[in-house]
Amino acid sequence: MTPHPNEQKCAVVIAGGGTAGWLTAFSLVSRLGPLLDITLIESDAIGTVGVGEATIPTMRTFHRLLGIDEKEFMAQTQATFKLGIQFDNWANQGDRYIHSFGEIGQRSWMAEFHEFWLEAKAQGFGGELSDYCLELQAAQAQKFCLEVDKRPVNYAYHLNATAYAAYLRKKAEGAGVKRIEGKIAHTALDAVSGNIEAVQLEGGRLVEGDFFIDCTGFHGLLIGKALGVGYEDWSHWLAADRAVAVQTELTSAPVPYTKSIAHPAGWQWQIPLQHRMGNGLVYSSRFMDAQQAQDVLLDNLPGAPVADVRHLAFKTGRRHKAWHKNCVAIGLSSGFLEPLESTSIHLITTAILRLMKLFPFGNEYTQQAARFNAETSFEVEAVRDFIILHYHATQRTDSDFWNFYRMLDIPDSLRHRMQLFSENAYVWPDEVGLFRTDSWVQVMLGQGLYPKQHHGAGRLLDQHGLEQQLANIRQAIQKMVTKMPQHHDFITQYCATDGWER
Ligand SMILES: Cc1cc2nc3c(=O)[nH]c(=O)nc-3n(C[C@H](O)[C@H](O)[C@H](O)COP(=O)(O)OP(=O)(O)OC[C@H]3O[C@@H](n4cnc5c(N)ncnc54)[C@H](O)[C@@H]3O)c2cc1C
Repeated sequence: MTPHPNEQKCAVVIAGGGTAGWLTAFSLVSRLGPLLDITLIESDAIGTVGVGEATIPTMRTFHRLLGIDEKEFMAQTQATFKLGIQFDNWANQGDRYIHSFGEIGQRSWMAEFHEFWLEAKAQGFGGELSDYCLELQAAQAQKFCLEVDKRPVNYAYHLNATAYAAYLRKKAEGAGVKRIEGKIAHTALDAVSGNIEAVQLEGGRLVEGDFFIDCTGFHGLLIGKALGVGYEDWSHWLAADRAVAVQTELTSAPVPYTKSIAHPAGWQWQIPLQHRMGNGLVYSSRFMDAQQAQDVLLDNLPGAPVADVRHLAFKTGRRHKAWHKNCVAIGLSSGFLEPLESTSIHLITTAILRLMKLFPFGNEYTQQAARFNAETSFEVEAVRDFIILHYHATQRTDSDFWNFYRMLDIPDSLRHRMQLFSENAYVWPDEVGLFRTDSWVQVMLGQGLYPKQHHGAGRLLDQHGLEQQLANIRQAIQKMVTKMPQHHDFITQYCATDGWER
């Protein structure tokens, strides 16, 4: 590696130009641009993974940090709004619940809202927990706006992945990122330090750099193939290893939520954009072959296909180290859990933020790398537990797939959580604060876990007082939902892609 004294620009080479590559390139150039000389290499012949179209609310904060204009971004990526995920057939066939991004009711410092609600249920009133969440009620009514009665709505996006990478590319190139089209054929390492010195493209062109970012997706070209960092396989917990995807026409107005529909050996996503629907089936090759998966998907499409069916293979897990030597892996090259809670793009954004904070401006950065890797580990483990919860807490007995998950030997951290909830209704946000108390509560109740006991705080109020307070919250939410416009009307006036009309 060529040393780069502080006064010189650090030459950053980003290998790969999918969502991870272009989001990293644009973030670095827009926030650290004067200090860096950024080159991105991508291969049109290889292409991108082409999926990854549902997000979570953290993306809004990230976009704000980069100065991305929401209306422009949404119009250019055919984006729609997302208020949560609707899970069908997960606890039992015929069941349905929504994991929404909203806050539920009003909490006190001592007890969470669901504990007051459980007390009300025990006394025979209180309705459904979902009655106390604005975002959830709005999703069900297909309503959307940014705020209502001065109360901000918590939301994310559904976006066209290819258009998103193109949008970011335009911005990144406009801000000074150099793009090289070509296929990386070889990675040259320094014989003494083991650092990456350069990547060589087919045809012989050499691209040298001080610091390399591996955004080559499942290829893991730099971090895995060149630097030999291994992969921790989590398929014993997360058995899905295949997906089949197809885009369909939109047959009705896009709903403001993702649909996740469980099948006997996998689950199907439906992600509505302004112009089309993204569909796919995530499954485990241990329980279903590719032809069966394709048949299940094609038999359950919400509209006619507008593109070819694509098959994808992956291994759930993570790199032993995301940062090794002078290389950081961001995106699928650093690991993949599964798309159930739309966390992958979020993990790209947190890796970028972490890299910007710990950026190797000097020549010695072993401790920075160690911190980066430790933070990455905590984060991914929290997401892992949340995803396993959906599969494990099921009552389904209709297939080997669900029997496998029901009987799964889950991580101790998740077992502890589920036991505390089942016994005492106690919930806490995950260690990195991504999935809040309300997320855990919605999914645990939705998956059929019902606590045996709950906190006594609700009994401090007399029955009438509790009943009145709960009724007030429900009524306030219903009033706000009534005032909100329909989701598709809001898109039409706020961020319609040219030519979109409904
Ligand atoms: C089935 C499925 C569904 C998903 N759904 C979601 C979702 O709903 N929400 C979410 O947040 N995430 C989702 N993800 C994850 C999401 O797709 C990815 O996190 C995101 O697209 C980033 O991918 P990437 O940029 O790391 O990789 P890719 O998109 O694969 O990009 C890799 C890049 O590297 C380049 N490259 C590779 N090899 C070479 C080479 N030799 N030379 C030059 N260039 C090379 C490629 O050309 C490409 O530009 C899903 C993933 C899968 C598999």
